[in-house]
Amino acid sequence: MRLGYPGYQGRLDSMRRLKPARYEAVMSGARTFTDADWRCSECGGNDRYTRNLACRGCAVQRPERVFKPVPGVGTIYIPTDEAASENWQQRHLRAQRLQDQAHTLSRLGSIAVGLYALAGGRVLRTGSVVLDTEPLMLAVDSLLSGDPAQARAAMTPLLQQDRDLAVCVRTVAQAVSNLKLNKH
Ligand SMILES: [Zn+2]
Repeated sequence: MRLGYPGYQGRLDSMRRLKPARYEAVMSGARTFTDADWRCSECGGNDRYTRNLACRGCAVQRPERVFKPVPGVGTIYIPTDEAASENWQQRHLRAQRLQDQAHTLSRLGSIAVGLYALAGGRVLRTGSVVLDTEPLMLAVDSLLSGDPAQARAAMTPLLQQDRDLAVCVRTVAQAVSNLKLNKH
């Protein structure tokens, strides 16, 4: 949670009254807390991120769902069928998000590890796309989430694929993090 914005103290006070477990987690600097009054309709878990109340179980499972190592083939990203059921507004938001992500990636400059290189918002291996913008940013966000379980879920399939690929994605994440730090 961002500290020190106007009205922050008021929010803290109401959080202490309405959601004491979240309040205690915020005060102790914990990234997650267990919400006894809530259960995720997707995964049935009740651990949530302190910052935005998102479900931790789902956040950890997301990379596991879409990154699938296929022995001998090397395809590691399988888009979920969520895209098919999205309505227009969701598709629009997704396109907007992709554009923002591609813009962020385009500002990172040249990154290359072994045979892997960042180009045009995607990771290429000797000219072929290995990670498109969306899975790349999913891995980057997982790495920067501060949740070791989420970071591990994203890195494991990349490491299984190729150590250099994992190092490349980690380098991209570091560069995105630096970019965000410099903005403030
Ligand atoms: Zn969930």
